[in-house]
Amino acid sequence: MHEVEWLSAHATDADMRKHTVEREAPRHYLDWDAPALACLDTLKAAPWYSQAVTACSEDTLWEYGVLPWQIGWTYGKLVAAFDSIDRDAILRHAADLGHYVADAHVPLHTTLNYNGQWTGQDGIHAVWETRLPALYGGGYGLVVGDAGYVDDVHAWAWKTVAQSHSLVPQVLQQERMATAAHGEGLVREERGGRVQLQQNEVWCSVYHDGLDGMVETQWRTAIQGVSSLWYSAWVDAGQPDLMEVFAPSRSPWWRRWLQWLGVGLPTGSSRVP
Ligand SMILES: [Zn+2]
Repeated sequence: MHEVEWLSAHATDADMRKHTVEREAPRHYLDWDAPALACLDTLKAAPWYSQAVTACSEDTLWEYGVLPWQIGWTYGKLVAAFDSIDRDAILRHAADLGHYVADAHVPLHTTLNYNGQWTGQDGIHAVWETRLPALYGGGYGLVVGDAGYVDDVHAWAWKTVAQSHSLVPQVLQQERMATAAHGEGLVREERGGRVQLQQNEVWCSVYHDGLDGMVETQWRTAIQGVSSLWYSAWVDAGQPDLMEVFAPSRSPWWRRWLQWLGVGLPTGSSRVP
């Protein structure tokens, strides 16, 4: 199978594993504002895992999430896979890294109130992450610039999670405002034979406008981040020649892989790494 199709088909493997693999779920989030993680406040920014284990205990970390460290762990596996030019491992870890990086750009993956359950806003997770992109994603401009080298992936992961976390108040506040203006805006919709309550399109458009481009911006930033980390892992592995394992093409491999994210990229770029 061509690598682009493979990546596309396996981009959500990490989510599937949540139900079968012990300790998979906490790899997808960090409940940064959980009172139990106040222990992290005593450490410098972007703490190492070993420091956090000492300050917070391993059980606490795995209860409230390890997403920023997971990005570094999966990145390390991808570097090793590139280093040994192991095609299957490269694809597997690239897909997982893309998934975790995308999760790190979702504000509700960085808070204990991940589904609005503590503020009477239940269901907001799927609205932000699934419903809004489904309704408006087609109009987003997802052309991003070239991949850039990230020299400190650990710091990058923490900065990314911090930036997403800073958006949480706006995610919640705009939901309140949309609901204040239009009620809960719920409609019954049938999906796969099941009736679900979903926010109607008028409500969604008010919420989406209130977010002022946030979903699109986060999506674009995630794409840029994924491509940059893939590229950086290949550089860190010593820029191995991948021609023997991947089909030759005029465009670089990481650019083709971005297609799995449905990204329209500019062609004819002059700066090809
Ligand atoms: Zn996930």
